[in-house]
Amino acid sequence: MFDGKVALVTGGTRGIGRAIALKLAAEGADVAVFATKENDASKAIVEEIETLGRKAAFFVCNVADAEQVNTAVSGVIGQFGRIDILVNNAGITKDMLLLQMKEEDFDSVVDVNLKGCFHMIKACIRPFVKQRYGRIINISSVVGMMGNVGQANYAASKAGIIGLTKSVAKEYAAKEITCNAVAPGYIQTEMTGALSEQAAEAILNQVPVKRYGTPEDVANAVSFLAADTASYITGEVIKVDGGMYV
Ligand code: NDP
Repeated sequence: MFDGKVALVTGGTRGIGRAIALKLAAEGADVAVFATKENDASKAIVEEIETLGRKAAFFVCNVADAEQVNTAVSGVIGQFGRIDILVNNAGITKDMLLLQMKEEDFDSVVDVNLKGCFHMIKACIRPFVKQRYGRIINISSVVGMMGNVGQANYAASKAGIIGLTKSVAKEYAAKEITCNAVAPGYIQTEMTGALSEQAAEAILNQVPVKRYGTPEDVANAVSFLAADTASYITGEVIKVDGGMYV
């Protein structure tokens, strides 16, 4: 499905981003992965993509830093020749009740989750316009739609992603560039592994499907939106949450 296409997945070394990178590679894409640390996980994802018979490369890039983003995106284009699919998946949490939340923890979550998407889209949009093709998929969260206790910073960043997605969709629809968001519910990864058993149990009680989501559940939605066949879908937010927020 993605033969000849190049995908760029931020935060692709672990969890949901890793599943997205593998899914797109399994369906034919060459994949560049960004994360802040070169480590066993970054080496493993490159090897796994190559085992699928695709080209892969890892770039150290903090998406909150515009300069690093511009350098790394140029690096991808230099190495792969083009980018067709941008998946903005990198994200962090710094949960705290509002009264105790430090300004720097609000800023850092918004800087990575929301401004990171802005920097990445800005760096990729010129090549997308030039080639009159681009698929942008931003990973939001149902928390951005419903709010959550202890996550004012995170929920604000994820709600912001939805506004960003819709605006970019409108600005670039005529250039054959689509921009959509995927809003996962509770997905089992290292990020949610940090939750207490009690908190995780309370969340599960709100999920009609009665199971936690898997990174692959999210990757399937991303692959759907990244396909040529999704050319008439833009500005959309697809929830992958087992019915948690309806
Ligand atoms: P993980 O914490 O498992 O993985 C996060 C990934 O992002 C890692 O590869 C990490 O690598 C990378 N990353 C973190 N900060 C940066 C940065 N500044 N620049 C570049 N890369 C960065 O998270 P998940 O897989 O659980 O989540 C992925 C996305 O899905 C996030 O946007 C999250 O908000 C969203 N989401 C997750 C849900 C869940 O239940 N898990 C639910 C809803 C949304 P490194 O640390 O090496 O930089």
